[in-house]
Amino acid sequence: MNVDLDDHLEEARRRIAEAADEAALRAVERAYVDKGGVVAEMLASIPGLPPEDRKAVGVNANRLKTAIQEALEARRSELADAELEARRGARGFDPTVPGTPQRRGSLHPLTQLQRHVEDVFTSMGYLVLDGPEVELDEYNFQKLNIPADHPAREMQDTFWCDRDQHLVLRTHTSPVQIRAMEQLEPPFRTIVPGRVFRNEELDATHSHTFHQVEGLCVAEGVAVGHLVMTLRTALREVLMKDDLDVRLRPGYFPFVEPGFELDVRCPFCADGCRICKHTTWIEFCGCGMVHPNVLRAGGIDPERFSGFAFGFGLDRLAMMWAAIDDVRHFLEADLRFLEQF
Ligand SMILES: [Zn+2]
Repeated sequence: MNVDLDDHLEEARRRIAEAADEAALRAVERAYVDKGGVVAEMLASIPGLPPEDRKAVGVNANRLKTAIQEALEARRSELADAELEARRGARGFDPTVPGTPQRRGSLHPLTQLQRHVEDVFTSMGYLVLDGPEVELDEYNFQKLNIPADHPAREMQDTFWCDRDQHLVLRTHTSPVQIRAMEQLEPPFRTIVPGRVFRNEELDATHSHTFHQVEGLCVAEGVAVGHLVMTLRTALREVLMKDDLDVRLRPGYFPFVEPGFELDVRCPFCADGCRICKHTTWIEFCGCGMVHPNVLRAGGIDPERFSGFAFGFGLDRLAMMWAAIDDVRHFLEADLRFLEQF
């Protein structure tokens, strides 16, 4: 009986070692281990054997089965390794090496602040509008009460896009005031966050590309008090300060009459600091009552409706929001800065 076992085992191991694929291994498995195979035959023969031999045959049959199964498993593992090796060779990389973990980024601080500002104004009933960055001279200047020879054009060093000077990179978000008036029926309230461009030297507080938020409210009976209340409420919400004072100073902008500069009480100090240049006030935005010529240019009757408008720099607000003292940080893709938000 032992001879039988050894012969079978030797033969099975030889076939397993020679098997080049799963199909060959299955054939061995069928011949020896499956129903009707060698092991099953050995077990089936037991009842016809002399009683003293039965136990030994049973034990041998089980040993044979276990040994063959182990050999099959080992060969399967070898074949799988070989296949992986072959694929590595063919593709030039190792698919089993763990991947490089992806680092999750975060939103740019200006994007975070812009969304925050949009949320605040949306909660106050404002629509968020968008407009083209390449704008017609007509919208960027003329319809905003800035004719071709107006001295206010000197205040906005302009990037012209074409020789005939019909197209400009918008120097402010105010052209969307006209676009809004053309599209919406009063009463309406809207803000327009967006990029604007001016030909300015880059320094700590100036940049050729910056971000403005334009605001426009047109209805019957709108007055300066509404403007002040709106900006103070919005700023308190955006900067999360319970009491944040604002003040108006006279200011000149061709598209408003009267026009104001709005200052915000410095949120960082009581008696002067570096950020407010030791004045306790921070210049925040230009604003005013929409000039009748601008209402007319937008197709709105200035005898019936009035409106207020404001435009503030998102970059400047971000400097207050996050106590940042150099506007250039927002344009430089420096992770040491960006990772702090
Ligand atoms: Zn201060």
